[in-house]
Amino acid sequence: MFYNLFESGEMEVEDKLHILTAAARYDVCGYNGTSRTNDSPLRFLHRVAVPGKGTVCLFKVLMTNVCTNDCAYCVNQVGRDVRRSTFRPEELARLFMQTHDKRLAQGLFLSSAIGGGNPSRMMESMIDTVAILRQRYEFKGYVHLKILPGASLDCVEEACKLADRVSVNMEAPTAKHLAKLSLKKHLHQDIVERMRWVKKLRDADESLAPSGQTTQFVVGAASETDRELLNTVTALYREVELRRAYFSPFVPVMNSRSEGLHAAPPIRGHRLYQADWLLRVYGFPLQEVELALNEKGNLPLTKDPKMLIARSQPWLFPVAINKASYDELLRVPGIGPISANRIVEARKDHSIDSLEQLKKMRVVTKRAASFIWLPGMPVLGKQASFMPQLEEDMAQEELSLAGVVE
Ligand code: SF4
Repeated sequence: MFYNLFESGEMEVEDKLHILTAAARYDVCGYNGTSRTNDSPLRFLHRVAVPGKGTVCLFKVLMTNVCTNDCAYCVNQVGRDVRRSTFRPEELARLFMQTHDKRLAQGLFLSSAIGGGNPSRMMESMIDTVAILRQRYEFKGYVHLKILPGASLDCVEEACKLADRVSVNMEAPTAKHLAKLSLKKHLHQDIVERMRWVKKLRDADESLAPSGQTTQFVVGAASETDRELLNTVTALYREVELRRAYFSPFVPVMNSRSEGLHAAPPIRGHRLYQADWLLRVYGFPLQEVELALNEKGNLPLTKDPKMLIARSQPWLFPVAINKASYDELLRVPGIGPISANRIVEARKDHSIDSLEQLKKMRVVTKRAASFIWLPGMPVLGKQASFMPQLEEDMAQEELSLAGVVE
């Protein structure tokens, strides 16, 4: 039973909710470590950070899991013997408002399979659902609406009018990689073109989809490298003003052509998030982030990308904490934008002389110690001698936090 959301006689809706929230589990609406699934009865609720609203609980669901497409990574692909269902817009809008009124969900994340083969028709149902929420129920909260590949320009425009955020799943970094996963979806024509429409619409009217657009990649299903993923993400940040990318490690789907393939390790998604964070939040250029890649073009699974980047540029260290620029501070492992700003502000008043002071400014001193110089420290550059052991310790600690090693 889903938290007393249903009255007697609503078994059919409860059944739909069960099917369509389970089917939505691989649509990523926020990053929560390396976990892939959530088997709780309230699995349709996801606590995520949303732009300008702090952390909110989103109701994540599909409009339908009926699909004529053949995407190899997807539990909803055509031909699989699974229970299928479709919400009617009134039904889903009412159900969402019930969870909202019970203070279980503050926002909606609505995605969908494409139904009987016409993505625009299915998008119209999604749009109708949100229109009912906005108009009949006067719901003013956060809505993230998926734009289905191949949906019409009218649908994209309506979605941008109603939703705070929209997204089109790219799934693979190049057309060649997507072709390995689906014979029916075309990267440029069905997906990138819609991203460009969103950008154009938002350029003309910034009140549309005010939280911008995002996308999602399935990682490890098409032999793509991390270099290819990071290159594409960087191009999307530049060309369609993507707000952020999500990385979903591939899991083989039973009773489908992907059944025998290997699952991608969840830690690979984690490393990609770390590298993406350096691009998007720290503002590192792509060439610098690429210093973390190995000879195969992938991020080593056991190493933190920022630590690898620092180690490959030894001439930048140690950084003198009382003199370094903001950008120089940001290159230090253990110092992020918040702590770099705090250092810059604090030293206007006084000199920073100890690791204790840095700790209070949210510097991870265990990471930073080898890369910085403070007054009283013996010799510039000597600290680097204990970096390898420190790095091993940090890698081990991270892997255990991620549940990859005990
Ligand atoms: S179009 Fe969407 S729902 Fe359909 S198979 Fe592809 S990823 Fe799955």
